[in-house]
Amino acid sequence: MFLVLLGPPGAGKGTQAKRLAERLSLPHISTGDILRLNVKEGTELGKQAKGIMEKGLLVPDELVAQMLDQRFNEPDIKKGFILDGYPRNLAQAKTLDEILKRKSIAVDLVVYLNTSDSVVVKRLTGRMVCSKCGANFHTVNMPPKTKGICDNCRGALYQRSDDNEETVLKRLQVYKNEVASLIEYYKQAKKLRSLNADLDAQVVLEQIIGLTA
Ligand code: AMP
Repeated sequence: MFLVLLGPPGAGKGTQAKRLAERLSLPHISTGDILRLNVKEGTELGKQAKGIMEKGLLVPDELVAQMLDQRFNEPDIKKGFILDGYPRNLAQAKTLDEILKRKSIAVDLVVYLNTSDSVVVKRLTGRMVCSKCGANFHTVNMPPKTKGICDNCRGALYQRSDDNEETVLKRLQVYKNEVASLIEYYKQAKKLRSLNADLDAQVVLEQIIGLTA
């Protein structure tokens, strides 16, 4: 199953992708995670991406496409993937199709996680991420058992530098400028399914699993 999760920042793509990856035994590929790793490790790509990410803008398409193409060369994607954070615009959707075609595969399903702005802002400004395993928590909705410590691996929790209200609003605006054409593209391809992602994460997860059956 080659599955793409679409939706605004804060729709729960990362949370759902991690749980889906476990349930379906597929790799979770997040372009945001790969970029953050590059920033952390100070690679050439990371140096180019850092400032752009901190402003909530999109890293140039060519850079992200190259990075993804490399990731798709790993053998673990043979049976499928859960792709999160890509594509973010029509050009990226077309690029994704081209990259996959060269590897004789194609996207099977695109799940659109429809989320209201007020929910997005609340989710992201309260989000805490584990520095070790990447698990997500929320100061109000999903607090860790011990403040600042991951329940799963005891790693330290941190707040992403782009999860402040100003950058969140910018990221939402960037998202809205691009999403309509993306939705139309996957509708035309008859691959799009929409869900109300304002609902509880577990409810949304079961609905997505239902769509993959
Ligand atoms: P995310 O973790 O998906 O919220 O992504 C965090 C940031 O990484 C975004 O605000 C962008 O700056 C960058 N990024 C992630 N995915 C992409 C993409 N597909 N195209 C361009 N920039 C991206």
